[in-house]
Amino acid sequence: MEVIFRNVSFSYNYKKENEKQALKNINMCLENGLIHGIIGPIGSGKSTMLELMNGITMPTNGEIIIGKYNLIKKDFNFNKFRYDVGLVYQFPEKQFFCNTVGEEIAFTEKVFSPKNKNIKNKVIKALKMVGLDESYIMRSPFSLNNGEKRRVAIASVLISNPKLLIMDEPTIGLDNNSKKRLMRMLKKLKTMYSKTIIIVTHDVDMLYEIVDNVIVLNKGQIVIEGDKLNVFANVELLEKNNTPVPNVVKVEKMIYDKTGIDLGYLPNMNSLVRAIKDAKEKSEVIPYE
Ligand code: ADP
Ligand code: MG
Repeated sequence: MEVIFRNVSFSYNYKKENEKQALKNINMCLENGLIHGIIGPIGSGKSTMLELMNGITMPTNGEIIIGKYNLIKKDFNFNKFRYDVGLVYQFPEKQFFCNTVGEEIAFTEKVFSPKNKNIKNKVIKALKMVGLDESYIMRSPFSLNNGEKRRVAIASVLISNPKLLIMDEPTIGLDNNSKKRLMRMLKKLKTMYSKTIIIVTHDVDMLYEIVDNVIVLNKGQIVIEGDKLNVFANVELLEKNNTPVPNVVKVEKMIYDKTGIDLGYLPNMNSLVRAIKDAKEKSEVIPYE
C-alpha cells in the first residue's frame, strides 16, 4: 500500500506552554511494494512518524493517505484498516503473555474474529511467513531464543495478512545470525508476499542490504529521501545531520577517493571483500597474459 504525507506537522502538547513540534511540514510518497527505511538521529521524529501511520495519533496539520484510507477523513471501517496495516513495536516480544506460540500468534485474530474456525491454518501460514515450522505451535514463547521470539512477534502481526508492515527497530537486541535471518525474511515478505514494508532503524548496515528507498529525518524535517544509492551517496550531508552511514559505503568511498575505482553497489562488507579479492586476482593475472 502506498503511504502519502501531505504537509504533515505534528506537535505534542499542542497549544500548551510545553508544546513540542516533532514533525514539520512533511511531504512524501512511499511507493507500494517496496521496502522503505526511515533513519535519523534520536529525537528526529521517526517514532512519531510511525505512530501517525498507525492511525491512532492524528497530525496537527496536513493529510495522511494510506492505500484507500484517508486517515484524516476517517470515512472508513477502522477494523479493516487494522487488518491492512500491521505495526511491530520495538521489542515486541516483551508483550508476550500466552503459554504457547500458537496462542500468542492467534490472539489478535481471536479478538477480531472470534467465530473464525480457520485460525490454526492462519497460525501455520503466519509461522511459515517468518520461516518457522508447525512444531513451534505448542512451544512456550518464553523458551525461544531472541531471534525466534522476534519472529513469533512478527508472525502475530502477519496473521491478519496486512498489506503494509511497519516496524520500529526490528533488529534491535538481536545477534548477527538472527539479524541475517530476519533480513532474509523481510526480503521474502516483499518479493513472495508482496508486502510494503516501512522500517525505522539505527542499523544502517542492515538497511543498506535490504531497502529500496530511504528517508532521512532530522529535527522533524526530511533532510533527503529517495533511492538508497542516491541517498547514501551523500556521505557529508548525512554526517552533518548526525545520521550513520553504512560501513560498506564509507570504505567504498575511501577506495574511490584514493584510487578512482568505483566498485558499484555492494550490499555488505563480505561482498566488498570478495570484490576486492576479484579485482586483485584480475590485476595480477593481466601482466602475465
Ligand atoms: P525518534 O523516534 O526519532 O527518536 P521521536 O519521534 O520519539 O523521535 O521524538 C521526536 C521529538 O518529539 C523529540 O524531540 C522528542 O523529545 C519529542 N517527543 C516524543 N514523545 C513525546 C511526548 N510524549 N511528549 C512530548 N514530546 C515528545
Ligand atoms: Mg524512536
